[in-house]
Amino acid sequence: MTITRELKIKNTLSGEKEIFKPITEGKIGMYVCGPTVYSYVHMGNVRTFTSFDVIYRYLCYLGYKVRYVRNITDVGHLVGDVDEGEDKIAQKARLEQLEPMEVVQKYTNDFHDVMLTMNNIPPSIEPTATGHILEQIEWVQQIIKEGLAYEVNGSVYFDVLKYNSEHPYGELSGRKIEDLLSNTRELDGQSDKRNPLDFAIWKKAEPQHIMRWNSPWGEGFPGWHLECSVMSTKYLGETFDIHGGGMDLKFPHHECEIAQAVACCGTKPVNYWMHTNMLTMNGVKMSKSAGNSFLPNELFAGDHELLEQPYSPMTVRFFFLMSHYSSQVDFSNEALQAAEKGLKKMTTAYELLQNMNAESFTGSGDSETAKRIQNSCEMCHVKMCDDFNTPEMVAAMFDLCSVINSIENKQIKITDLDAGTFELLNNTFSGFLLDVMGIKIESDANDEGNEEAVNILMEVRGLLRAEKNYALSDLIRDKMAEAGIEVKDGKG
Ligand SMILES: [Zn+2]
Repeated sequence: MTITRELKIKNTLSGEKEIFKPITEGKIGMYVCGPTVYSYVHMGNVRTFTSFDVIYRYLCYLGYKVRYVRNITDVGHLVGDVDEGEDKIAQKARLEQLEPMEVVQKYTNDFHDVMLTMNNIPPSIEPTATGHILEQIEWVQQIIKEGLAYEVNGSVYFDVLKYNSEHPYGELSGRKIEDLLSNTRELDGQSDKRNPLDFAIWKKAEPQHIMRWNSPWGEGFPGWHLECSVMSTKYLGETFDIHGGGMDLKFPHHECEIAQAVACCGTKPVNYWMHTNMLTMNGVKMSKSAGNSFLPNELFAGDHELLEQPYSPMTVRFFFLMSHYSSQVDFSNEALQAAEKGLKKMTTAYELLQNMNAESFTGSGDSETAKRIQNSCEMCHVKMCDDFNTPEMVAAMFDLCSVINSIENKQIKITDLDAGTFELLNNTFSGFLLDVMGIKIESDANDEGNEEAVNILMEVRGLLRAEKNYALSDLIRDKMAEAGIEVKDGKG
């Protein structure tokens, strides 16, 4: 299948919006840095992965065959994102008195639950760092062979200065090696590194370190930056199309990924780098220490002092879509409530659309109304092709909402447009709402299920009353009242 629409992507590497050209026509390889599974997934990550979910969805919608790889970091990410100290997962295992792999499983499950609740499509491949230790050791060996890494005392470090003498280090984040050097503290004599900018690609495991593997340099574990290079190359090739992540990963994580790949494979790993922006709450950067962050489930339940009410996962999803992925998103009750209203508008229009019939439209495709619909439908694509501009796509969708409402209340008549234009409206609106925006319609099937559950409860309660078990039957009545269902005892 040939894809005719021209897509532009703002490439962090060049700082420019570039016309997207995949390496292989019709196919895309996309890698997104996944979570380090040592705690419940935080809202910043949810935003990043939802942004890339929409990007993934739109690429698929355009007709690309996308291989989407998003890793799970289950070893090697040290506390404080530095080269010395405790592994985040090992630390949590110690604190929670669990096996490291229990920590990994627990928080991977939580992560998957939240992704599913947010209606994010699972990636094509979700590799783990611990599942690729052998490949990481091979990379370390190759980089040593290329003369760009050195072993000291069981650890292996990437030689940034030597690398920089042949290739620019810092070009993704726009940093200069001189500035980096003047901003780093001198080594205190405790470190094995030749230079403070060098980073570990393999670390010796100290006796108390529980996550450890055999290697040519003794027992140790891989450096955090290495896993993404290894796994993206393994599944997407030495050079692939899109690499994404939160902007906090630009430096040093992604910068190191580039250096490792160039050192090991001799090629730049990625054609288009994309970064999502941060979250704030009422204008202040969200963080645990500021006390203004909440977990996804607290947001869905409205269970936090900063939240006036619960916000459904689809409201949160729609709220994210109302900002560009590269802009900051500011959480506030006001903004979330506006998103809730906006989403309601969309889903109501979608439901109205289901009861309309293309054949009933008998007008012309050249009418003002038909042209307005054609234009707004086209705008949905034009905006998404312009670096995935979701807020402007949503604006075009709102125009289609008003059209649907006007058809419903007969301000637009069946003679005002033709069947073909209505089909276009139906396909575009439904396609963008469900497939691109990824909004899950809370359907009547749910209500039917609830109704059935209520009927079963009523039946059980009837049996209990027949047995004169009033304590239990009253308990059911009270619990149902709490859930907003009133039960009246009477004949029938
Ligand atoms: Zn990564």
